[in-house]
Amino acid sequence: MAALTDLGIAAIRDGVRDGAFTAREVAEQFVARVAAARPLNAFITETPEHALAAADAADKARAAGTLAPLSGVPIGMKDLFCTAGVRSTAASAMLGDFVPPYESTVSEKLWAAGAGMLGKLNLDQFAMGSSNETSAFGNVVSPWRRNDGGNAALTPGGSSGGSAAAVAARLCPAATGTDTGGSIRQPAAFTGISGIKPTYGRCSRWGIVAFASSLDQAGAMARDVRDCALMLQAMSGFDPKDATSLDLPVPDWEAGLSADLRGKRVGIPREYRVDDMPAEIDALWRQGAAWLKDAGAEVVEVSLPHTRYALPAYYIVAPAEASSNLARYDGVRYGLRDLPEGAGLQDMYAATRAAGFGAEVKRRILIGTYVLSAGFYDAYYTQAQKIRALIARDFEQAWASCDLLLTPTAPSAAFALGERSADPIAMYLNDVFTVPSSLAGLPAMSVPGGLDGQGLPLGLQLIGRPLDEQTVLNAGLAIEARAGFGERPSDWW
Ligand code: GLN
Repeated sequence: MAALTDLGIAAIRDGVRDGAFTAREVAEQFVARVAAARPLNAFITETPEHALAAADAADKARAAGTLAPLSGVPIGMKDLFCTAGVRSTAASAMLGDFVPPYESTVSEKLWAAGAGMLGKLNLDQFAMGSSNETSAFGNVVSPWRRNDGGNAALTPGGSSGGSAAAVAARLCPAATGTDTGGSIRQPAAFTGISGIKPTYGRCSRWGIVAFASSLDQAGAMARDVRDCALMLQAMSGFDPKDATSLDLPVPDWEAGLSADLRGKRVGIPREYRVDDMPAEIDALWRQGAAWLKDAGAEVVEVSLPHTRYALPAYYIVAPAEASSNLARYDGVRYGLRDLPEGAGLQDMYAATRAAGFGAEVKRRILIGTYVLSAGFYDAYYTQAQKIRALIARDFEQAWASCDLLLTPTAPSAAFALGERSADPIAMYLNDVFTVPSSLAGLPAMSVPGGLDGQGLPLGLQLIGRPLDEQTVLNAGLAIEARAGFGERPSDWW
């Protein structure tokens, strides 16, 4: 029998239900694999006891006939979700020893659905970054290597880089992610897995360490589209504790899965053809359109004229909100306190924030407070909000001629660690295709399309109408069936 760690969520669920193996066996194999893959630095905290306890509960539930949708499935949890009694760091020294007394709504829902937790996954500090290099716990190393015979360590993408690396390396069948401007989709693309961010408001933000509240969304990262549907279903739903939570029923996305796209129109946004994009990515994009056509969809060209302003608008709005959200880390209420000898209150604030925040977080706080300052608010923040409204309108107008959009997920394959960390602008440019749909709050997904000439995965992005995760998932399924992406990284660690 193949290793149980090669199985995804649906296969584990079905196997536990049918008695092919026990949940305990599944959890034990994953726990061992997590420990063996420590060189990837995917986990900040391992929680084998949590996964094993949930597995034992699942095996009991099977005997009692009370299996839940994710009974026996051990998952990884991005360390941005607060988990009661388990250290929750946001990959920051500020929360390095923070053990929350409460559970995030999303993780609570996953435990209620029967899932267990293998551990807390590494990420960019406070989810700010695209490469996982801003983590205070060291970067994650992608399990993928270029096929050039060299051993250059690559980024798994970010900010959900630990989640992506862990799923790609089969350390867990699926993991939670969060996506503010692409942090589920870009790492999914870089590591050859699938990842979906739902419509803003589908998943409660309660108990997730806040970055930019009007953009932050939780979502699912898994090896295939069906597993994404299953996991997202368990994570979603109304929560009175989050004022922006949508009070709508959660559709049965798994039951609605169909790769038949007849009657659907797929828009190809003209403005996503950026300069310097590798020819291979352009070719994959065309291939993706051909696959969707083959699945019955009609492919049309559309225009999203304000696309080129999305990145600058995002890098004003997100830091502005971050500067406000991160004001709470003052040495009094949460986490770190640095109180120099004889210091006053202001000195404590300054010392705590100087010691607790990394360079990228400080950069964002500086940008954010600057664009919100009295003298510059109108010139930057108000303008960015206007652009955000125009970008949302672009999408609304596009829905007149199509039902979903197809684009590349990122303008490059995974880059080497260290290659872009000295130049924040080069790093921010990697988010060019993921940020517009975040600003508009739309559901969007990345699915693997193939490998490039260096042997690295490339992703295709599907963007849907508000609340239409089903069409996004179905188009993802149609691509998945045709791309036949079965490659996986070797266990070199
Ligand atoms: N890379 C983007 C940023 O640095 C997106 C991060 C995210 O989605 N959390 O802000």
